[in-house]
Amino acid sequence: MAVWDDVVGQERVTQELAAAARDADALVSAGQAPDAAGEPEPGEPGGASRMTHAWLFTGPPGSGRSTAARAFAAALQCISPDRALGGAPGCGFCDGCHTTLVGTHADVEIVRTDLLSIGVKETRDLVRRASLSPAGGRWQVIVLEDADRLTEGAGNVLLKAVEEPAPRTVWLLCAPSIEDVLPTIRSRCRHLSLRMPPVDAVADVLVRRDSIDPAAAATAARATQGHIGRARRLATDERARARRAAVLKLPLRIDDIGGCLKAAQELIDAAGEDAKQVAEEVDTKETEELRAALGAAAGTGGRLPRGTAGVMKELQDRQKRRATRTQRDSLDLALVDLTGFYRDVLTLQLGAPVPLANDEVRDSLDRVARASTPVRTLRRIEAIIACREALDRNVAPLLAVEAMTAALRAG
Ligand SMILES: [Zn+2]
Repeated sequence: MAVWDDVVGQERVTQELAAAARDADALVSAGQAPDAAGEPEPGEPGGASRMTHAWLFTGPPGSGRSTAARAFAAALQCISPDRALGGAPGCGFCDGCHTTLVGTHADVEIVRTDLLSIGVKETRDLVRRASLSPAGGRWQVIVLEDADRLTEGAGNVLLKAVEEPAPRTVWLLCAPSIEDVLPTIRSRCRHLSLRMPPVDAVADVLVRRDSIDPAAAATAARATQGHIGRARRLATDERARARRAAVLKLPLRIDDIGGCLKAAQELIDAAGEDAKQVAEEVDTKETEELRAALGAAAGTGGRLPRGTAGVMKELQDRQKRRATRTQRDSLDLALVDLTGFYRDVLTLQLGAPVPLANDEVRDSLDRVARASTPVRTLRRIEAIIACREALDRNVAPLLAVEAMTAALRAG
């Protein structure tokens, strides 16, 4: 299985990356560094310019930008003997490919944050890491999965590193859109834009890679409109299915103000539960590990040595920020499902010949479609978008969601 198999429905992007990996391989064999970063000059012959120091992967959530970045990282580290015989790098089997894909390659750092922002200090550490020579003699690769979360200060630290990269360092930045990255940084990057993969391609990969039953895979792929990670979760996680089913019932429960307020509160509570579950799974272990590292006496009651309170406090702050982010992500996911519901309503109202994302609640869709008009449905979709934007601006979640359910009722 080649590393590109996991990059679903992105033929143009994988072709470009495979070509760059071939040129990168030639550079390693010749003991050279790639040209300066940026787009190739018009008319410039392919040659070495297909490999460069900095890449920016953009695409909507679920399009697989980090999967594409990892596949490229693996291809850069591929040491398969077939490659030397003219085969393309990225076999998927060799030690270089395999350790990159599972995240243990010494020269590949995958940065995935569960926080809302990446600060100057973390970025300085990364830049230091990036300046090291690759231990395996090929490339030092840094995959920054959430480049859109860099603070402005952090972005400036990164800019310096991208402007003057070490000869064998490669930065792979991922962000939802090109506007999410500082213009100075993106002008230094080769840009690759991923599209939402077709529903059929997603269903196919769920069957092939995750051995999910074809009917369940098709339902999950359609329900999530091609978002691979969410589709897999929906097909395999009972709790995710229950949560989604509850969200899709909301449009029928907001006939009066009381129903609106109750539905809003339930959405907030469900997101809070998700955050609590993540906290239970991770926080306790993390805290115990840090206490042990700091040399506390065994057990939770053990006293910490003098001068370590600050470090503990830092961890607690981090955990608190993570809880906020989990809660936000969970709520946002519910709002995406809700948008899908009204999109289906609109599809029915307009008689558009496209498949419904939420065919399993066809009765509810029909009821809402008959009781309103396309204009009202559009206003409802706008109310959900406005709610997501308000949450982005840090409006208190309950207030934002209550305003939304009230607007959905009014239509
Ligand atoms: Zn390989």
